[in-house]
Amino acid sequence: MSPKVKNFLWCVCRGYFPTGACLSNRCVSCSLDCVFCNSNYEDITHVPIECPKTFRTWRDVNLWDKIFDTFELMKCHKFLH
Ligand SMILES: [Zn+2]
Repeated sequence: MSPKVKNFLWCVCRGYFPTGACLSNRCVSCSLDCVFCNSNYEDITHVPIECPKTFRTWRDVNLWDKIFDTFELMKCHKFLH
């Protein structure tokens, strides 16, 4: 897994990824819609896993299985809320 993907997952894991929901919780005025698919609530589970556009990207670069497994592991260890 590339350092960029590892960094992305680390940011997600630590809650540093600036999703609409995350920014809204910090009183930042912004859209809660996903910037990739414009159709869902953009939170920390939508962006890396649930977003159809993100899913296609991970699948196209053959990283979907690793991303999904890593995300599930993070959930098991309660890094994600
Ligand atoms: Zn989306």
